[in-house]
Amino acid sequence: MIGENKKLQFSGGTMTALGITIHNTNNQYSAEENYQIMLNSSMSYSAHFFVDKDIAIQVMPLDVQAFHTGKAYDNGNKYTIAIEICSKGNDEEFNKAVENTVLLIQMIRNKLGNLPIYFHNDFDRTKYCPHRLLDQYQNKENFIRRWNLVN
Ligand SMILES: [Zn+2]
Repeated sequence: MIGENKKLQFSGGTMTALGITIHNTNNQYSAEENYQIMLNSSMSYSAHFFVDKDIAIQVMPLDVQAFHTGKAYDNGNKYTIAIEICSKGNDEEFNKAVENTVLLIQMIRNKLGNLPIYFHNDFDRTKYCPHRLLDQYQNKENFIRRWNLVN
């Protein structure tokens, strides 16, 4: 979890989550490595979870805002939980990360109710993110159907 000293850099304040936003990292690093990159960055970029083929790491509490969809206080940042699926590895390894993400979404929903799924590009059409899911499934609806994540 992020420390108190990093809260202002990584969070816009408290939040009641109304959705879950999925991203794919633009690098070949693991969940732990992406977490370290976030911690060591001077940018106001953050996520609640990093997921790879082995683990899901929660780095921020679910009741604080992260900075992940673009403009500081857009609806993505203000109301949604950010999951970064690590793009590391081949398709098989990436699919394992997606499976772990689906389990994570189910756990979040068990806790907070049936929150709808968003893709990053729902909030910012100029961003092609989550790029590997968009490559594989063309759109969010196909992804949701494939994994039975009915919104
Ligand atoms: Zn994104």
